[in-house]
Amino acid sequence: MPAISSNKPYRIGRSPTGLGLFATQPIKKGTRIIRYFGPLLDCDKEADDAIENKYLFQLSNRWTIDGSVRANVARYINHSCRPNAESDVKPRKRKVFIRAIKNIAPGDEINYDYGTDYFKEYLKPIGCKCVGCEKKRKKKRAEARAERQRLKIKAEKKALRQAEKLAKDRAKQARKARDKAGEARKQAGRKKLNGAHLNGHGSHKIHAVKSDISVRARGAQGRAR
Ligand SMILES: [Zn+2]
Repeated sequence: MPAISSNKPYRIGRSPTGLGLFATQPIKKGTRIIRYFGPLLDCDKEADDAIENKYLFQLSNRWTIDGSVRANVARYINHSCRPNAESDVKPRKRKVFIRAIKNIAPGDEINYDYGTDYFKEYLKPIGCKCVGCEKKRKKKRAEARAERQRLKIKAEKKALRQAEKLAKDRAKQARKARDKAGEARKQAGRKKLNGAHLNGHGSHKIHAVKSDISVRARGAQGRAR
């Protein structure tokens, strides 16, 4: 790691994505924090694919800074979609400075937005790990979890409703079956009775019993006398 003089308001430290640059002193909004520097590449002379690294900083159509050199401490600054600093490009001077766009507190990681091209090329494929995107991802995950929970509860409620309906239907069917059986018994009873009336046995028997009783009664009376 390159040495950083103690009068600088930053240090290199561990960040969620590897190394990053962190404030060691309060940095006021608008302050020039550090220069992003390295050999200048002339696009008119160099082949397009001569140098390919993540630290190329395009100054203009012609000039690009190769910031991959060790002494360029600014290369430790990570990208953020919600940065507290920005790149201040001076194309005519062929210089880039990183400037605070917010008051930065000691301990805060210093970030700037690398721009759409870099984002599309390097960050989108792996997913941006900046605090803003992590927060967004967390929120989305929480929302997805809540949605899954909501659907689960909904499904459980539906299953319960279906079970209740099934139980109700079964009870209804059982009641119907009972009623039907009761009706059938009644019908059968009525048929028997009707039959008895029709063939005369019933009334005959009743008469017979009556006559029996009367006979016996008479007999008893007879014996009593
Ligand atoms: Zn991001």
